[in-house]
Amino acid sequence: MTISADASAARPAVAPAVVDLLKFIDTSPSPYHAAENVTERLLAAGFVHFDPGAPTTGASHGVAQLGGSVIAWAAPANAAASLPFRLFGAHTDSPNLRVKALPETGRAGWRQLGVEVYGGALVNSWLDRDLGLSGRVALRNSEVAAGYETRLVKVDEPILRVPQLAIHLDREVNDKGLLLNKQQHLVPVWALGESHEGEFSEFLAERLGVAPADVLSWDIMLHDLTPSVVGGRDAEFIFAPRLDNLVSTHAGLAAFEALVASGDQNSVAVLCLFDHEEVGSTTQTGAVSSYLAHLLEQSVLSRGGSRSDYLAAMAGSQLLSADMAHAIHPNYPDRHEPNHHVQINGGPVIKINANQRYASDALSVAAFQLAAERAGVKTQRYIHRTDLACGSTIGPLSAAGLGVSTVDVGVAQLSMHSAREMAGTADIPTFVTCVTEFLRD
Ligand code: ZN
Repeated sequence: MTISADASAARPAVAPAVVDLLKFIDTSPSPYHAAENVTERLLAAGFVHFDPGAPTTGASHGVAQLGGSVIAWAAPANAAASLPFRLFGAHTDSPNLRVKALPETGRAGWRQLGVEVYGGALVNSWLDRDLGLSGRVALRNSEVAAGYETRLVKVDEPILRVPQLAIHLDREVNDKGLLLNKQQHLVPVWALGESHEGEFSEFLAERLGVAPADVLSWDIMLHDLTPSVVGGRDAEFIFAPRLDNLVSTHAGLAAFEALVASGDQNSVAVLCLFDHEEVGSTTQTGAVSSYLAHLLEQSVLSRGGSRSDYLAAMAGSQLLSADMAHAIHPNYPDRHEPNHHVQINGGPVIKINANQRYASDALSVAAFQLAAERAGVKTQRYIHRTDLACGSTIGPLSAAGLGVSTVDVGVAQLSMHSAREMAGTADIPTFVTCVTEFLRD
């Protein structure tokens, strides 16, 4: 008997939220694209574009984008100006390689582009991948007041590669480990021949259809072109880039959309998506910025409230800070706290740390646990090994900056900060439902 090689028809269907997530990830290679995609979806759903420099009055549903960050709110009809906020926070950025300001370099007959490592990337995961470019470019434009305009750029073509050294030239690599110097060993190749100054500006100008002299500056990064997929024998897994933290960004958006569509909410729901979490959040568009507090206050004022109403609203507000969690790794179970093993597809993970690397406390955990119970979803608890340094997220920063009760929650994953990460399909719709319930309260 022969066995058919093509058994693809037997694969189980996945939830619409997963299909939507994969598309969101693949169309969001940079934080700017993620923020733009969120903004466009909310504007299409009837949200008003809110300009903090010229605030709209009376807007119950507003959205404001600042670079790679986006903040949106939805107030119930006829809501009191002092109605508390239910906030969902996540980050839009992921560790990657970013093109230097004067990138043209090369040697030995190769043309290369200099890159910096952004955030805590697993740099080995960027080797031997087909890499495209994305980000934003500032272009000279004398017809606008600033003198320049900003354009997004996305090149989904394999124009760059960081080639790994052959094993014949590095015989001990498998036994002694791969050592990569960030300055020397991560420089991608993109052509043969001699580099010349301005070559990268010329490339951007050509792609954008402008003159090279009009390219003033850029924030450009590299991305792997392998499409996001559903994987595993039983279609239980997601293999994709930037799961940390586009899973949370997307879940927040999906929950926010579902809540608004339901017309059933008891607080002012707020979606806050920040850039620069991977480098500490202390920027204009990061979670430490006063931008969110200013916008929330403006949203209260625009609905006819006062500063006193804003402060009263903040006193009763709660924040769900969403970022990914470490699932138990089958090849390294000893790296995990034995009583707090987190499973892929085991439900949303509540992250707790006595030293407040996560902002969760008994009260905020209780509030999220009740939301999960209303959604009929089981939760998990994560605690990092006490003898390993624990990572952090925007939770503690936002809790301190806003003075609101905060819980740190996330979806379980493996390979965090790799160019290609892994999570579970069942965790996506359950997390969206829990977040919807949290925001509704
Ligand atoms: Zn993260």
